[in-house]
Amino acid sequence: MNDFIDRGEKRIVVIGGGFSGVAFAIQLVRRIQARVHVSIVEPKKLLGHGLAYSAVDPDHRLNGPINAMAIDPENTDELLEWCQARGIIENDLEAHVPSGHIFLRRFVIGEYLSYQAFSHANHEGFGSTVQHIRDVATDVQKKTNGFLVKTSSSGDLIADMVILATGNPTPALTKPFAPEHAEHPRIIADPLMAGCLDQIPIDARVLVVGTGLTALDQLSTLLRRGHIGKLAAVSRRGLRPRAQSPEIRGLAPPRISPIAIMDRIDGQIPDFIAREPVNVRRWCRALRQEISRVVRAGGSWHEPFDAIRDVVWKLWPQLPLTEQQRFLRKLRVFWDVHRFRTPPMNDDMVRQAEELGRVQYLTANVIGVTTGASVDPVQVELEARSGQMERSRHEFDFVINCTGLDSGGAASRNPVLVNLEQRGLLRRHGTGMGYDVSGKCEAIDSVGRADPNLRIIGPPTAGAFGDPLGAIYITAQVKRLMPSAIATLGCASHAPPQEPRALST
Ligand SMILES: Cc1cc2nc3c(=O)[nH]c(=O)nc-3n(C[C@H](O)[C@H](O)[C@H](O)COP(=O)(O)OP(=O)(O)OC[C@H]3O[C@@H](n4cnc5c(N)ncnc54)[C@H](O)[C@@H]3O)c2cc1C
Repeated sequence: MNDFIDRGEKRIVVIGGGFSGVAFAIQLVRRIQARVHVSIVEPKKLLGHGLAYSAVDPDHRLNGPINAMAIDPENTDELLEWCQARGIIENDLEAHVPSGHIFLRRFVIGEYLSYQAFSHANHEGFGSTVQHIRDVATDVQKKTNGFLVKTSSSGDLIADMVILATGNPTPALTKPFAPEHAEHPRIIADPLMAGCLDQIPIDARVLVVGTGLTALDQLSTLLRRGHIGKLAAVSRRGLRPRAQSPEIRGLAPPRISPIAIMDRIDGQIPDFIAREPVNVRRWCRALRQEISRVVRAGGSWHEPFDAIRDVVWKLWPQLPLTEQQRFLRKLRVFWDVHRFRTPPMNDDMVRQAEELGRVQYLTANVIGVTTGASVDPVQVELEARSGQMERSRHEFDFVINCTGLDSGGAASRNPVLVNLEQRGLLRRHGTGMGYDVSGKCEAIDSVGRADPNLRIIGPPTAGAFGDPLGAIYITAQVKRLMPSAIATLGCASHAPPQEPRALST
């Protein structure tokens, strides 16, 4: 095999062609001053769609404004310009909120990323190429001069560098659902699957288990279709994602001068946290005090919260593992409802339906789900704490699982991750969220060595950095690792242009 012979161009294999994989490929070919060949291994027909942007429903929108969606931090206006050139924003009147912010449909991002990947297939400049290999990567073997990436049906790929961008796990059923419920026609196990609600008649009694953003999406879909049957959403604590800030919704004029989000992510840890010791309890107390101060001065909790959110990648790694685990056990659920906010149009639609009694939110634990024949309704047992525990039985025609993504099970179902772990090239993060990586996203192997030629980006680094889950944080992560990745490839990089960025969130 002559595969490891130096052909004068570096070969990079990116495993996973969702937002992260495409953002990496594009930033790389734009920055590197050499000809490189990037192969993105992705089983989906189109690059860029991944889990989040494969949504087909027009009511499934981004939960942040358009300017929080750049794939290249040096070209933050690109998406807006791309949309304007195609009339996407004019033709989507509901995308606008009174402040002028735009909340795009999620599938637009999938289309945009596909377009970008395609446009970089043969990049001008140094002649780098970006190729989609429509396949699943099954294994990565380390060789003396690089890596051998095995695929299901496209043979072996040679790589000088491998980027793992395997992304989010898919939703899975957890107790009290039984594994066989995944196949039952009255249980929607994967709410992210296109068309999964199509079989629900408009007069059906529907229970949504979970009250987060996916539940909001599903309720929006049903309401838009004119659903007239009973709609209920249940969660243990009854917590719901919070609304966007008054400035973003246009309910109040901006209070602080707009700062580009990328500059905030790269910026300083806010003073009210920096002066505290490294301790979650002290940070929470400091945040509460700062929120009180800001609210007294006429602002909203979003300002201090966002000041922390944008630098979580600097704060989280400072915490000892036991503190991280405690946060995840006790506080994450509260963090998440503030962190992952609602698209205003979906929030409005569901709240109006709630006021009209068309949707009911319940606070209870689902303790039993019993299915019968495919024509029979689903029996659901709830336990609510109202002074004492109260149990009740309910009948629904359909139950939709919106309990979240299966972060624990993802790795054990993905062959490439299983094999990399078995070979000792990856080590699970102590929090159980993804893998250990260095500050530059180098994979840490089973004996603690960082491999600069094997990098992990996006959600599988959530344990290490706390929160590279939103698109802009992934873009920022890719930006941070890029100089060192290019240096590892033995190449030089372009100095990015230093133009001021005007957009803010
Ligand atoms: C439902 C949902 C809505 C979201 N909405 C927003 C939003 O509004 N705004 C925002 O900023 N963020 C949002 N996010 C966050 C989102 O995770 C990121 O924006 C981003 O999409 C993550 O991209 P990714 O490429 O890392 O992961 P994914 O999108 O999960 O893509 C990973 C890809 O890797 C592929 N893959 C996995 N294993 C292999 C293998 N072995 N071989 C080959 N390919 C493989 C998969 O097929 C998949 O396409 C949302 C997330 C979800 C799940």
